[in-house]
Amino acid sequence: MSVPRIVILGAGYGGLMAAKGLAKELNENEADITLVNQNGYHYITTKLHEPAAGTAHHDHARISIPSIIDSNRIKFVRDCVTGIHLDKKVVQLKNNDSLLYDYLVIGLGSVPETFGIRGLLENSYSIRNINSVRIIRQHMEYMFSRYALEKRQELITIVVGGAGFTGIEYVGELVDRMPELCHDYDIPLEKVRIINIEAAPSVLPGFDQELVDYAVKYLESKGVEFIVNTPIEECTEDGVILKGGREIKAATVVWTGGVRGNKLVEDSGIETMRGRAKVDRYLQAPGYDQIYVIGDCSLVFPDENSRPYPPTAQMSMQQGKYLGRELAKVVRGGKMEQPFEYKPKGTVASLGRKEAIGVVGDRKIIGGTAALIKKFIEIRWLFLLGGVSLVLRKGTL
Ligand code: FAD
Repeated sequence: MSVPRIVILGAGYGGLMAAKGLAKELNENEADITLVNQNGYHYITTKLHEPAAGTAHHDHARISIPSIIDSNRIKFVRDCVTGIHLDKKVVQLKNNDSLLYDYLVIGLGSVPETFGIRGLLENSYSIRNINSVRIIRQHMEYMFSRYALEKRQELITIVVGGAGFTGIEYVGELVDRMPELCHDYDIPLEKVRIINIEAAPSVLPGFDQELVDYAVKYLESKGVEFIVNTPIEECTEDGVILKGGREIKAATVVWTGGVRGNKLVEDSGIETMRGRAKVDRYLQAPGYDQIYVIGDCSLVFPDENSRPYPPTAQMSMQQGKYLGRELAKVVRGGKMEQPFEYKPKGTVASLGRKEAIGVVGDRKIIGGTAALIKKFIEIRWLFLLGGVSLVLRKGTL
């Protein structure tokens, strides 16, 4: 007798938690679990700003998927999803045969949101995956090496578009990297310009003002220039043009200003807002039974009158964990007992290796203490993925 087929798309924070949870809850004869991911590794997105700046090797931000899943329970397919056909219950893959499913979990993450800024996709970089951060690092280093010969300021000017969480973390990491990079390329540190541009009136919109002030003061003391309340209107081969016409010449422009859900979700016919599916209380796609959307592809509202929760690893993990537990009941012929409820545990943004700001519970934390807590959060994720042995292999304080 055939058993129900559960297919999970994406081995990110959400997909991995769902796969591991389902494998734990269900026996072999109760379900086939297949996990599809385009790479053979999971990348720790929350650490990608480090290899992008060059403060850590990119291998620190990735983990082999077969090494952290039970291959007797989860079939791992390394392939790129090219289409989701909900009417036929089929997932189209690039290299392998298509996959049939009875239950589908979509956790394919996000792509940069350009907000219609001209030239952004063509002329900027974004911190998205291992490939993209390798390119940013190498591009930046190449520009610095050219400066030694050409002495053009734009070669050592880095514009970071967006001063949200990712933008600030990346700027903090750049600040840590610059002394070494300048030493390597014989460039006086004070010549380098790191400019962080934000359309909203303040950096880190939505964050506690006292923490924002701390972050800005710290980063400014390290030479970072902030331009707020000023949208980027165009990104060109030479740099960026701001609202009002001011041009900033920069050979490296990194866009961190926002994300939208993976295009495959809206292409599948699921109703989306900025590419993200407004899921029901059980994380089901609107209008579809047995199709679940999690992580950055999903949109969850605290209540009807509020703005949606921002897309975070924390949200993705909680959704994945929830599905692991509740979907197992459905597969067994029962019902989901509890609706999904997001429990924010706090947020910590790093400002380089030794500084951070954040809120944990209702406590504000800053400086070295916050940086240490950030490391513990990363270590917790490693522990959830691969237990103590993975922490020992990959964890650093
Ligand atoms: P992801 O983790 O992005 O995983 C999606 C997976 O799907 C990837 O493995 C990808 O390769 C795969 N995939 C995509 N397309 C295909 C395809 N066509 N076929 C097959 N596989 C595919 N959040 C926090 O909570 N705390 C933080 O401190 C924090 N810091 C961040 C710092 C940075 C620099 C960035 C960029 C993000 C940060 N975030 C943070 C946000 C967080 O990383 C995301 O919200 C989270 O990764 C989303 O998880 P996910 O499971 O939806 O997708």
